[in-house]
Amino acid sequence: MIIDQTHDPALKSFIATANVPGCAFPIQNLPYCAFRRRSATGAPRIGVAIGDDLLDIAAVADLLNGAAGHAAAACAAPHLNDLMRLGPAYWAALRSELSQLLSATDAERRSRVETDLTPIAAAEFFVPVQIGNFTDFFASIFHATNTGRLFRPDNPLLLNYKYVPVAYHGRASSVQVSGAPVRRPLGQTKRAEDPAPVYRPARSLDYELELGFYIGRPSTLGVPVPIAEAGAHVFGYCLLNDWSARDIQAWEAQPLGPFLAKNFATTVSPFVVTAAALAPFRTAAFARPAGDPAPLPHLLAPQDQAEGGLDIILEAYILTAKMRDEGISPFRLSRGSFAQVYWTVAQMVAHHTSNGCNLEIGDLMASGTVSGPEPESWASLLELSRGGREPIALPGGETRRFLEDGDEVIFRGYCERAGFARIGFGECRAVVEPAMKAG
Ligand code: MN
Repeated sequence: MIIDQTHDPALKSFIATANVPGCAFPIQNLPYCAFRRRSATGAPRIGVAIGDDLLDIAAVADLLNGAAGHAAAACAAPHLNDLMRLGPAYWAALRSELSQLLSATDAERRSRVETDLTPIAAAEFFVPVQIGNFTDFFASIFHATNTGRLFRPDNPLLLNYKYVPVAYHGRASSVQVSGAPVRRPLGQTKRAEDPAPVYRPARSLDYELELGFYIGRPSTLGVPVPIAEAGAHVFGYCLLNDWSARDIQAWEAQPLGPFLAKNFATTVSPFVVTAAALAPFRTAAFARPAGDPAPLPHLLAPQDQAEGGLDIILEAYILTAKMRDEGISPFRLSRGSFAQVYWTVAQMVAHHTSNGCNLEIGDLMASGTVSGPEPESWASLLELSRGGREPIALPGGETRRFLEDGDEVIFRGYCERAGFARIGFGECRAVVEPAMKAG
């Protein structure tokens, strides 16, 4: 955990909107994205968010020195992989020099920066990383227990849970950036009362509020990454929606794991908040209740136990078509903290490689649904509606058990700690579109 001058809460940017209290992107954050001005053509470029604007990093490469200039030149690309490939020394140099540039006092550097800004409101965003592999974990014991109880009321949590950071391999090619609509999937479903399955639009479409993380350093096939080194492979974090069709899932996942119930779409936020920016918000790993087994030695490191947790507040909102028409604000369905997750990010990464599986630059992993102990923090409709049995009342008089066409799901995330600047993740949002005809 390195706290340096880039985290100084007194640091201000000459971009005035970055200094507004509550701003997601103050100078202490500096998250990356892939963007293009909506009126422009050509390939997307890597930008850094500052206040209400994006700075085209490669356009100011000549203002940055040494390693930072080299790193900035790698941002003349439509994804972050080239920057990731340079390694942590270059990532740190770029962050440090961007911090200095965006707080510069001389008029010449200020005017160069101002020339290369694009308002966030005028930008189109792209998935910021070329993703080779996507792995989704199941790291909240509260989510695992809540969902397990629906199927096994007497034995909600299986024996392996406290030993194994459970996960499945997802699909990288259907990861979309925030703002892209998500089409309701078609699939085989079979309710208890149906004599045979039918192929039809999913009835029980749900979201899962998760924290995503991008791998920036590779590992060698056949060689496990030690737990003490695992966290250093993570470049940065995003908000992630693991869209889930519960009725497809219930029928297909007997006995194997998620497949068509989840691979039709995954939505990520446009901004990647770096591991460096999150350093002030590190906290202890989740405190296992008395009686829980200790992690096996290859998943246990003193430093990870002391500061492997992340206090990131995650919120889920819904905005239905009717609410949108009536001017009603998005309704908050849940708020929880990533600090409540049973496994640390380093434990997930170490476990992923513990059989020799390799990490690649650009791999995307996600935590699983970040539900906490309180119902207010349950991060899917499956949990909030108790398996679809109890409808949730929304402002404007509607109710929901699962998502309907026209509903927009919006995630927000932020970190706050006394003595540090508040930083945000921005939003991860998408509208549900009607299914294609079943044919
Ligand atoms: Mn999930």
